[in-house]
Amino acid sequence: MPVENLLGHEGEGFKVAMSALDNGRYTVAAGAVGLIRACLEASLYYARERKTFGVDLGRHQLVKRMIALMAQRGEMARLLVYRAGWMKNQGLRNTRETSLAKWTACDAAFEAASDAVQIHGAYGYSDEYNVERYMRNAKGAVIYEGTREVHMLMQADYALGYRSDKPLRCELPAYDAERWQAETGNW
Ligand SMILES: Cc1cc2nc3c(=O)[nH]c(=O)nc-3n(C[C@H](O)[C@H](O)[C@H](O)COP(=O)(O)OP(=O)(O)OC[C@H]3O[C@@H](n4cnc5c(N)ncnc54)[C@H](O)[C@@H]3O)c2cc1C
Repeated sequence: MPVENLLGHEGEGFKVAMSALDNGRYTVAAGAVGLIRACLEASLYYARERKTFGVDLGRHQLVKRMIALMAQRGEMARLLVYRAGWMKNQGLRNTRETSLAKWTACDAAFEAASDAVQIHGAYGYSDEYNVERYMRNAKGAVIYEGTREVHMLMQADYALGYRSDKPLRCELPAYDAERWQAETGNW
């Protein structure tokens, strides 16, 4: 390859490719937050409609537990995604935070989807309701953009001090609202 076609420095391609994961993983994490919300909304609707033993399904304590966990994990995942997004907007290295957001949000989405299927009973297992699709989609997100195991290992290594993030030679620039609006016409 002619030297004038070289992008960046020789030998840093792998680092550049790895840093791109911080962006793909972020979008997957954000999508998982949306999936938890969809699971919660479907479960709330069904739990108020369906009656068992003479009361709304949602009146049973163990059903409440599943609803409560969905709400709790959804907010935890949302806040971790917001933190990673805030760091990106500042132009800060965010590999650790994005990994934690991706792992947490995707695991939470799978738990939420599994519980949403459970709340819907046999209907949840069928394709008459959306929740079975949510469960399959959530499982995919636990596998791609770094499997659950990859993120667990990364987070353990950060905690143990075996891994740390240094600023990249070329970070993405901080978010500049005026420039974005001028160049795209979007608000
Ligand atoms: C729905 C879906 C969409 C996808 N889309 C894309 C895409 O667009 N582009 C793309 O490039 N790839 C895509 N993938 C592939 C995905 O990135 C890989 O499936 C993923 O990286 C895991 O690799 P693998 O399937 O080879 O599993 P393997 O590497 O065989 O691993 C199998 C399991 O063992 C675990 N494991 C493996 N090694 C270790 C270890 N050392 N320690 C602990 N656990 C370990 C893994 O975490 C995993 O759970 C997609 C996958 C799915 C399910």
